[in-house]
Amino acid sequence: MGVLELKFTSLEEITVIREKSRAAFLSGRTKSIAFRKQQLLALAYLLKDNATRFQESLASDLGRPVLESNFLEIGSTITEVKSIYDSVAKWAKPEYPAWSFNWFAMKPTLRKEPKGVALIIGPFNYPIWCVINPMAGAIAAGCGCVLKPSEQSPATAALLAELIPKYLDPELYAVVNGAIPETTKLLDLQWDHILYTGSGRVARIILSAAAKTLSPVTTELGGKSPVFVDPKADLKAVTKRLMWGKFVNAGQTCTAPDYVLVEKDSVKPFVKACKETLEEFYPDGAEASNSYSRLISPASASRLKGLIDGTKGTIVYGGTSDVEKRFVEPTIVEGVDVSDSLMSEELFGPVLPIIAVENVDEAIKLVNSRDHPLALYVFSSDSAYKNKVFDNTQSGAAVANDVIIHGGAEGLPFGGIGPSGSGGYTGKFSFDMFTHLRGSLDNPKWVDLLIGGRFPPYTPKKAAAIEAFVSPSLPSRKGLPPALVAAANGSSQRWGWFLLAIAVAASSGVVLTSRGRLGSA
Ligand code: NAD
Repeated sequence: MGVLELKFTSLEEITVIREKSRAAFLSGRTKSIAFRKQQLLALAYLLKDNATRFQESLASDLGRPVLESNFLEIGSTITEVKSIYDSVAKWAKPEYPAWSFNWFAMKPTLRKEPKGVALIIGPFNYPIWCVINPMAGAIAAGCGCVLKPSEQSPATAALLAELIPKYLDPELYAVVNGAIPETTKLLDLQWDHILYTGSGRVARIILSAAAKTLSPVTTELGGKSPVFVDPKADLKAVTKRLMWGKFVNAGQTCTAPDYVLVEKDSVKPFVKACKETLEEFYPDGAEASNSYSRLISPASASRLKGLIDGTKGTIVYGGTSDVEKRFVEPTIVEGVDVSDSLMSEELFGPVLPIIAVENVDEAIKLVNSRDHPLALYVFSSDSAYKNKVFDNTQSGAAVANDVIIHGGAEGLPFGGIGPSGSGGYTGKFSFDMFTHLRGSLDNPKWVDLLIGGRFPPYTPKKAAAIEAFVSPSLPSRKGLPPALVAAANGSSQRWGWFLLAIAVAASSGVVLTSRGRLGSA
């Protein structure tokens, strides 16, 4: 069929698309779980039926080998959509909070309601996974949804624009294609939720625009994800997983290991193991290999070449590039310090700096002096080592003995913390992101027998009764600073509900009339 040309959506059309989705949402058809499941199934078949075309589009955009496209993107997205399809009926059921003596009579209920119409803005590096996964959550939640794929992966963006209206309800779900002007136009509109995946730089623009329309936002960003290597670890096993996760998709993975912290005495054996692994992965070199992707653009290859050229470390593997062909060789750099060019920004490409540290404490200190990363990796079989690192650092995810695969782990949220993003998704978390938990009560008249003291005219008796109602007894002051213990003037007492009820009812003058209705004496 060949790779499609990307056609940008006109600015006038964008408002119409938003309005159409809103009107379709208000029609109420997404309230039906059967409808949501039908759309989810169609979404799964959209990927399955067109897997070959997606492989071609990813090869065109990223020079991506078919195996990588199937494993990391097409297959894993179908799996995700299927898992959401299987669970949506259960997730959409109302929930009830834990039984509470004070509130049970009012039947507290959590209604799971769709937020409305969502906007999903995607990056170039996993141009299917990063938009279709959250879209499945939006469909499951009962939302309408507009996708804005990255213009930097044009073949995949064009294919999504062709297929989505064919497979899904074309009023509720739509694709807007374009670059900054089109995204800016989208952001001028109000959205019931925005999911933005991309760089921190653009996230600032998205968040500022969303603030103007009070659109809620989830950000899925990147950062420099560090790797700790225990000197006692099996380096051959470590480097196999590490080199794979670093160089798959030519390093353009948000959770790719960005730099490695290795204790000084282990650097030489670690480098040796890295080289041996890369020689096994790419026996004739990466450029000749059909197992190695390309950078998204010459500009991106040129940025990485600049960072490599600027390093004060020693290149111990790779280092070559061909900017026009978007090729950068898998590159390992030893002897890097925190002020190096390679530590100045998220690498997002096939370059791996190694920082030598005295010990794990120094490594922890270094990581804690930087922005919270999206992921943090530890290679060790020693629980004490792993716990020490996990317990003394912060990151979006904490993974031991592997890299990048946690994005597909069922039941775990995928997301960052602080500068690496806020909010997480996949699976139930995607459903939750697009769902409004609408707290609901239904208060029967007779409850005023118990809390009628809240109504004016206020009297000292009513005040005392209400005071007792809102003053739970607290645990003893043992363990608090001495000044707070000394300040104790007796602990507050929690009144029993029924005693309180009688007191309040008596003080408020509320009684049951002879006909059993509420009345006033
Ligand atoms: P990007 O920020 O350049 O672009 C993302 C989207 O924002 C695109 O759709 C683009 O059209 C739009 N955009 C760009 N400039 C804009 C502007 N000025 N105003 C409005 N919209 C604009 O990101 P990218 O280069 O495509 O992706 C790479 C980044 O994404 C990396 O930092 C990576 O770590 C991160 N990422 C994060 C995740 C995650 O799930 N946390 C996944 C993939 C990528």
